[in-house]
Amino acid sequence: MTGSSDRPPRPKGRTGSPPASRVQHFSNPEEERFRLAAIVESSEDAIISKNLDGIVTSWNAGAERIFGYTAEEIVGQPISRLMPPEHRNDMVDILGKIERGERIEHFETVRLTKSGKPIPVSLSVSPIRDGTGRIIGAAKIARDISEQKAHQADRERLFREAQEAAKVREEFLSVAGHEMRTPLTSLQFLLHTIQKRFESGHPEKAIEGLVRAQAQLQRLSDLTEELLDVTRIVAGRLTPELEEVDLRKLAREIAEQQRDSAARAGCELRFEAPAPVTGLWDRSRLEQVVTNLLSNAVKFGGGKPITVRVEADTARATLTVRDQGIGISSSDQSRIFERFERAVSKQSYGGLGLGLWITHQIVAAHGGRIRVESDPGHGSTFRVELPRKAAGDVKA
Ligand code: ADP
Repeated sequence: MTGSSDRPPRPKGRTGSPPASRVQHFSNPEEERFRLAAIVESSEDAIISKNLDGIVTSWNAGAERIFGYTAEEIVGQPISRLMPPEHRNDMVDILGKIERGERIEHFETVRLTKSGKPIPVSLSVSPIRDGTGRIIGAAKIARDISEQKAHQADRERLFREAQEAAKVREEFLSVAGHEMRTPLTSLQFLLHTIQKRFESGHPEKAIEGLVRAQAQLQRLSDLTEELLDVTRIVAGRLTPELEEVDLRKLAREIAEQQRDSAARAGCELRFEAPAPVTGLWDRSRLEQVVTNLLSNAVKFGGGKPITVRVEADTARATLTVRDQGIGISSSDQSRIFERFERAVSKQSYGGLGLGLWITHQIVAAHGGRIRVESDPGHGSTFRVELPRKAAGDVKA
């Protein structure tokens, strides 16, 4: 077989019109058709051909897998069946380009499966020519890019979350800086005043200043502990050291410690605890829980009475701290237990937005739970429930 007259005819359905030098020739046209059919059938992608009226003329196994139609169902039907209404104009554009002999490469769009589900696809479309070179239709390779799109969406979501986290951290650093600066500035001022009072021979007035300086130092030390707690909790180092504790006694002691600051805020402290409530808990962590709830009640309590109540049944102890202050809207009630979350402006109330998160973590580490009920404008009630024996920690 020599000479151009022996060349096999250009196969039907072949995509594009590659340069003659790159066309692979076979000695047997049957063999070439067979090989092409095998390639088309084994493709992961949908390989579809249509005529210039947009009617499907061939449909491979990949197309069936992606779109759900069998070849019997779709060959002879309009290709527009795969197109969502809002993409119907695509076909006019695509066919226009094909008629001008142009190829369309990796065009991302949406198509419908047999069940009507939209899926993202990447399309490459090339003209099909007959033996005389006349364009008689188009061959389309469609790749399902759902997974690719899902990964892209995941990456975008992670990026947004990372940006959000960076923003929260920055805001937190700024709030923490301001919170630390307030007691530090007063401390500087007080130390200066104390020195002056000693120098001018008024040691009794200097001692007054010392008491106030101690309170500022305590505030700084509390803030530092709060920050260190975040690191401990995030590192998973919040393991309660259990010992027998009387929650009534512990809560009463903390209430006594806070009585002065409550009085300064105009809040009367009421303590209700009918009987001792013992359990196996981490003493210093529970002190933190009561201190956090009580200091919040004082801070947000609007100068009204605060009630601390401790009670128990055989299985669990309940600590309730109720104030009659500003309250918390229902949309903020779950958020405030998250890290850095606050429901008030930093201009109106100081704080790092960490106290309730730490409290929640401590309670959870004991196998307990914390809840809030609130009527905005009328006050909040925080209720902590703790199992009296943490599971597996004590022999009955
Ligand atoms: P902060 O130290 O900033 O007050 P917390 O984690 O202790 O942080 O509290 C988070 C937020 O929950 C507060 O900023 C406030 O908006 C709200 N909150 C907590 N306790 C009360 C309360 N008793 N009454 C009203 N709002 C409260």
